[in-house]
Amino acid sequence: MAELAPASVQAPAQAQTNVVARARSIGAEIAARHAADVDRDGRFPSEAFDALRAEKLLGVMIPVELGGGGASLFDVAAACHALARGCAATGMIYAMHQIQIACLVNHGDNGWHRGLMERIAAGQLLLGSATTEAETGGDIRNSVCAVRAEGDRFTLAKNASVISYGDQSDVILVTARRNPDAPSSDQVLVVVTKDDYRLEKTSRWDAMGMRGTCSDGYRLEAAGVIDQILPLSYADLSAQTMLPVTHILWSSTWLGIAADAVSRARAYVRSEAKRKPGTTPASAVRLAEATAKLQQMKAVILAAIRQYELACGSPERLTSLSFATAMGTLKVTTSELVREVVEAAIRTCGLAGYRNDTPYSLGRHLRDAHSAALMIGNDRIMSHISTQLLVQRDGSGAFE
Ligand SMILES: Cc1cc2nc3c(=O)[nH]c(=O)nc-3n(C[C@H](O)[C@H](O)[C@H](O)COP(=O)(O)OP(=O)(O)OC[C@H]3O[C@@H](n4cnc5c(N)ncnc54)[C@H](O)[C@@H]3O)c2cc1C
Repeated sequence: MAELAPASVQAPAQAQTNVVARARSIGAEIAARHAADVDRDGRFPSEAFDALRAEKLLGVMIPVELGGGGASLFDVAAACHALARGCAATGMIYAMHQIQIACLVNHGDNGWHRGLMERIAAGQLLLGSATTEAETGGDIRNSVCAVRAEGDRFTLAKNASVISYGDQSDVILVTARRNPDAPSSDQVLVVVTKDDYRLEKTSRWDAMGMRGTCSDGYRLEAAGVIDQILPLSYADLSAQTMLPVTHILWSSTWLGIAADAVSRARAYVRSEAKRKPGTTPASAVRLAEATAKLQQMKAVILAAIRQYELACGSPERLTSLSFATAMGTLKVTTSELVREVVEAAIRTCGLAGYRNDTPYSLGRHLRDAHSAALMIGNDRIMSHISTQLLVQRDGSGAFE
């Protein structure tokens, strides 16, 4: 099994800087230029993804021996942040893609999976996710659809009510019950490529924010060989990789939204200060509040990445209740903070932030930020954590 942690520790410093620097340049120069248009038309940010492909940033987390960049989770988190500063939808799509890559890298253990990783790195393929199901909604730890095996082949049909960038995806990772007799919680993660599946659109994404993620609904029908199914149960795979990596990369994307909002607020306060030299604009107080919350976001994300690195390679630690609680609270904390930071930035800029036609406009940031609490509802996560807390033992130290 190729592991994320050793790769993250061993990635050469030069390679690390390159990943982040290239993402920063694409975020600032390409994603930012098209962000308003992507948002207005609810279209896929194709210019940014053409550039990410050209820079080979889609296969960056695949191990070097399979043709990828061997980048660390830290670098990928920094890349999500850099892209989201320019365009939140671009950052979120990149994050969702890399979450699927992490699952494949950490748990794809046979020749079929390794071959696919080589194809992803060589062809810069884009990976999507079908966890949400029409029948179960956001309860992604239960499935109605099931894998139907016959000999060494399977078929699968799912009412996937949300698949972001489904039209642009080359590969989709799908949750399903292990077999038609399995209970709803006995799930596996099935990797299907464009040649294996057919998508029929059932709904169009016309949402308040994150409009460029094109999170349409589909009926997915797939067929393939049994080797395509990741061997670990989805419960363990989710605890060890999907949940922590998702919450770290989503949070890093939201940090990018918050950072850009604070930049705009800072620019506004500076322009006010220039207009009235020798005085500190009253709005600077709100800027300080936004900045403090931004720092809080950054601190919890960095702590979570460190916690993940420390736990990597130890399934026992990764599946512990205290680790699950830490990763759950990370998502809830950052998803609330991103909205608070953007709101404080709007208060800083006043009408200039509220209007849609100034350099300080923050409407798109606020709409995008509101998706954070809903992407796996915070109340659902808190209710799950509260159940865990009833059985969790007290830790013996602050750095567990
Ligand atoms: C931008 C974006 C992109 C997405 N992309 C994808 C994708 O690519 N693939 C994919 O599969 N899914 C995707 N999703 C869907 C996402 O993963 C969640 O499934 C979805 O946001 C949950 O939707 P829901 O609020 O309708 O469902 P639910 O989770 O069913 O929640 C409905 C309401 O019930 C509340 N609730 C539920 N359970 C509890 C509880 N136990 N206690 C208290 N309250 C509770 C929730 O807080 C919420 O208010 C995406 C969502 C967004 C916003």
